[in-house]
Amino acid sequence: MTEGIITACYILASILFILSLGGLSDQEKARRGNIYGIIGMLLAITATLFAASVGNYGIIITMMVIGAIVGTLLAVRVKMTAMPELVAMLHSFVGLAAVLVGFATFLDDSHSFTGAAQTIHAVEIFLGILIGAVTFTGSVVAFGKLSGKLSGAPLLLPGRHFLNLLLLIACIGLGSMFVSADTSDAGMTPLAIMTVLALVFGIHMVAAIGGADMPVVISMLNSYSGWAAAATGFMLSNDLLIVTGALVGSSGAILSIIMCRAMNRKFISVILGGFGTKKSTASSGASADQGEAVAITGAETAELLKNTKSLVVVPGYGMAVAQAQQAVAAMTQKLRDQGVDVRFAIHPVAGRMPGHMNVLLAEAKLPYDIVFEMDEINADFPATDVVMVIGANDIVNPSAEDEPDSPIAGMPVLQVWNAKTVIVLKRSMATGYAGVENPLFFKANTRMLFGDAKASIDEVVKGL
Ligand code: NDP
Repeated sequence: MTEGIITACYILASILFILSLGGLSDQEKARRGNIYGIIGMLLAITATLFAASVGNYGIIITMMVIGAIVGTLLAVRVKMTAMPELVAMLHSFVGLAAVLVGFATFLDDSHSFTGAAQTIHAVEIFLGILIGAVTFTGSVVAFGKLSGKLSGAPLLLPGRHFLNLLLLIACIGLGSMFVSADTSDAGMTPLAIMTVLALVFGIHMVAAIGGADMPVVISMLNSYSGWAAAATGFMLSNDLLIVTGALVGSSGAILSIIMCRAMNRKFISVILGGFGTKKSTASSGASADQGEAVAITGAETAELLKNTKSLVVVPGYGMAVAQAQQAVAAMTQKLRDQGVDVRFAIHPVAGRMPGHMNVLLAEAKLPYDIVFEMDEINADFPATDVVMVIGANDIVNPSAEDEPDSPIAGMPVLQVWNAKTVIVLKRSMATGYAGVENPLFFKANTRMLFGDAKASIDEVVKGL
């Protein structure tokens, strides 16, 4: 394949990636967006395989087959609830790849650069390894936190900001030593030390970020993985990798900003960490001041719903755990047939990944026109008869508004307590992801429907 055809394929692939990202921003076009992405990637890989600089087909094809088998097995087996962990793990691979490509490029003596070109090449390698190493360990820690293998609480070392600053200054110093090194032996030492520091920095940065800030961390690491890929593209002089990396990097950054807005947090304060460190007082206060939580059965819930005109369903992480979306769709259908106005309220950080609830509701084929964003529906709760909170907790916690000392203070929440009756479906009185007690459970108009969400909804559907 000539260079010209390869470049044309790369341009086409870039356009397909842009169309893919555009499609993924809308539920109805998401499937098409995925297909654009798949075609773009197929085109990109095929064209790259034909590039003049690519050889060793035996190794490449063997590794591609192994990778495809592992990837297919993972994708088929992964549960929807484990998707965020998988995404974090995949980001770590991108980071690790950038580190490995960086070292391979550094050790490759087949190219000789001089003057400004050499400096630029050295900066590309240094930055590629730096971003890759931070992304690698940061994503591994995020994986640990999301899968519950590591504590979700922020790790707050004494003088941590000072430590971060020190690491940054050290990396800048090592960078200047590396760029000005005249032999590869002299360059290896600062490069290796910087790699170790960047790996430590990745661990420290994500470990310091706690509880409810994790959504921002996930999109931020998504962005870093894009920049790591772009840096790899510079090292390999591959234009498509640069464009693709920049697309992922900037869309991840935009998503991080959207998530920050949704959480009412400043990006920089998320990065500095420490959110979710204060102890919540809501538990004792709520149970002492507002009495006991009142339970309700599935059959009683069905009776209540028979006399309801408007119902808002608030899905959360527990709906994903229970895989209750099909049961919820069956309940919705039954109620709509009986003339009940059923709508869904989606909090931007519900579940464990951006868009988690939308994906589940789409899987259950719920019509998109009854699914509303938080801002579209929050004012409607006072006029709502019943709200069913299905496996959600942090996103409906009034202490975010009422308690300035709460670890989630300031996070916008769905104001479900303003409805006439709130039914909360969960298995126990346990806290949600942020580890904060929820005074909603003790409010006079709240009823607790204890049990696995799917079993509870099935019982409600039977009663209907
Ligand atoms: P939460 O984690 O706050 O609450 C989920 C609730 O579901 C739990 O209290 C649990 O209670 C209940 N639950 C679990 N399993 C079941 C089941 N089988 N049946 C019924 N209930 C169940 O989830 P939310 O969606 O309310 O909030 C999301 C949280 O996750 C926020 O803090 C957000 O910041 C964070 N987060 C979000 C990410 C994102 O990108 N969306 C990424 C990472 C974190 P019980 O054990 O009693 O059943």
